[in-house]
Amino acid sequence: MKAADGTEDTNILHPETELPEDTRDYALRPAKLDEFLGQAAMKENLAIFIAAAKERGESLDHVFLTGPPGLGKTTMARIVANEMGVDFTETSAPALEKAKDLVGVLTSLKPNAVFFIDEIHRLRPEIEEKLYMAMEDYELDFIIGQGPGARTMKLPLKPFTLAGATTKAGMVSSPLISRFGISCRFSLYESVDIEAIIRRSAAILGIRIENDAAALLSRSSRYTPRVTNRLLRRMRDYAQMQKLPSITVEVVRDGLKRLEIDELGLERLDREILRMIIERYGGGPVGAETLAISVGESVDTLEDFYEPYLIQAGLLQRTPRGRTVTPFACKHLNIEIKSPLNTVNGAELFNI
Ligand code: ADP
Repeated sequence: MKAADGTEDTNILHPETELPEDTRDYALRPAKLDEFLGQAAMKENLAIFIAAAKERGESLDHVFLTGPPGLGKTTMARIVANEMGVDFTETSAPALEKAKDLVGVLTSLKPNAVFFIDEIHRLRPEIEEKLYMAMEDYELDFIIGQGPGARTMKLPLKPFTLAGATTKAGMVSSPLISRFGISCRFSLYESVDIEAIIRRSAAILGIRIENDAAALLSRSSRYTPRVTNRLLRRMRDYAQMQKLPSITVEVVRDGLKRLEIDELGLERLDREILRMIIERYGGGPVGAETLAISVGESVDTLEDFYEPYLIQAGLLQRTPRGRTVTPFACKHLNIEIKSPLNTVNGAELFNI
């Protein structure tokens, strides 16, 4: 993404784009359920379902994983495979172009393997159709010959677990959703969990971090582990260059300033979104499309990345008539609130 001054943004806060360093840092990725911090209810359920499936010697039911990017959907699918003691095969829906691509993967899976499909909302309809039968009966239709003599054969598959992940559950068809027996909905993490992730990652990276530094870093991590780990690596660089034995709160404060991230974890475009709603649209409501065009972003990025965090941080509200900012947003941006009143559905939201 280009910044206003023409330079490239660092993308450090963007969990939806994978940076090369993300894939390099396998060590930070939890491999077992008890190393996976947060999302307690989901873990508890999965632990039971996994133990039960293992006891029966069966594959785990198909697992549907939804939630914003960078929260651990892929990580959890890998953990499921590890805990089950089975193979893990990974692809993404756009990579499955032809039916034969799917047939190729499914026929080569080991018994009870976890087959992970990322961005499952982007499956082509003909592939999705094939998947239904594979998920339900562990079979695939196979057409032999051509023309009037063509025959349909059934190709048996070994039992497997489909793990389908998406940031857009609303775009997945109901016939597909209904074939998943287990649903894992990821929500943004609690600050205590993010702090625990910081401490775990720091220990793995071999760097000490002071308590107040971890607390400040957690507040700027958008409640998203992928962002947490990226920021931690940058803070490690800053501390290392200053020859400090540990990451101090000063290092974090100074580092965040250099990265143009404020103490709420907002980057330039977050602030621009809020400012735009306040200054151009009187605090809102403004529709997502209009807003996206105004700040030069796609509606997808606005809705998947920026909004969940702005809403969770209490800066933005989604209403049936569009997006509105909260008084806290005005306070955070240091913008004076004036009259007249802006109203949402007749209710006085705040003065602007
Ligand atoms: P998603 O598939 O939802 O986009 P990932 O599974 O790729 O997210 O997670 C991004 C990174 O965040 C992982 O590489 C891992 O290091 C870290 N991570 C995610 N969830 C957790 C967690 N609960 N505890 C510790 N680290 C986590």
